[in-house]
Amino acid sequence: MFDALSDRLESAWKKLRGQDKISESNIQDALREVRRALLEADVNLQVVKDFIAEVETKAQGAEVIAGVRPDQQFIKIVHDELVQVMGEENVPLAEEEGKTTVVLMAGLQGTGKTTATAKLALHLRKLNRSCLLVATDVYRPAAIDQLITLGKQIDVPVFEMGSDANPVEIARQGVERARAEGINTVIVDTAGRLQIDQDMMAELANIKSTIAPDETLLVVDAMTGQEAANLTRTFHDQIGITGAILTKMDGDSRGGAALSVRQISGAPIKFIGVGEKVEALQPFYPDRMASRILG
Ligand code: GDP
Repeated sequence: MFDALSDRLESAWKKLRGQDKISESNIQDALREVRRALLEADVNLQVVKDFIAEVETKAQGAEVIAGVRPDQQFIKIVHDELVQVMGEENVPLAEEEGKTTVVLMAGLQGTGKTTATAKLALHLRKLNRSCLLVATDVYRPAAIDQLITLGKQIDVPVFEMGSDANPVEIARQGVERARAEGINTVIVDTAGRLQIDQDMMAELANIKSTIAPDETLLVVDAMTGQEAANLTRTFHDQIGITGAILTKMDGDSRGGAALSVRQISGAPIKFIGVGEKVEALQPFYPDRMASRILG
């Protein structure tokens, strides 16, 4: 399907016979290949442009290293820049000793938000942190049932007030309950829509200002490709996010959304979803993602 970027760069360099080091002319050829690879990996166009400009500057300033082929040296520059943009290290979920950590989940319907809520709770439970899940999606009664079912599956309690209650009030009472019971982390699942919708954003903003979460996590479907960038911009501008979970990374997506989300919001990807099961959640590691994006 995709040619690995390293193979492509090697052949780009081979065409330029006699050029055995990074130079202005072969940089342009190589940058074109990187640009193509990033677009194929579904990185947002503007994000690609900014990224390429940065790599160009670094490649031009690079010292020639004896014994290292220029394509390999160039690949390393690209890889390192990807890792740097995506934040170098894994950033764990916020946690404050002796206090209930409040996590707000945000995102569109179908992205895997409710599943990610349960996955996160299971992950925390394995770290011996107690959890409470809060079901505020009153628009789809099936969503409340889905959370209850998932909660039973992972043995984590779910706070809900049925589908007639006000979502902001459910969130407020759910967080209050978690604090009263000395729960380590309360995770508030919210309603999503198929598309960005101002009522949904207003409700989310309302919930956020009421519960003042320590973390607001945007759930992004890695398969949505270019759209991930617009989604991130809107949620970050209107709600403000502290991190993201990239779901459906078990599919054939190359994960370019990770670069877009980070570049646009500045917020770290904290986890990736790698399957439908509740166990299918992994911490996000920038270097692994850089290798996947490059192919
Ligand atoms: P929500 O509407 O955002 O709450 O989405 P759901 O949590 O209901 O998930 C929507 C669909 O995506 C369900 O069929 C999930 O099983 C599936 N799903 C969620 N996360 C993942 C993932 O990481 N990988 C795969 N393959 N499917 C996922």
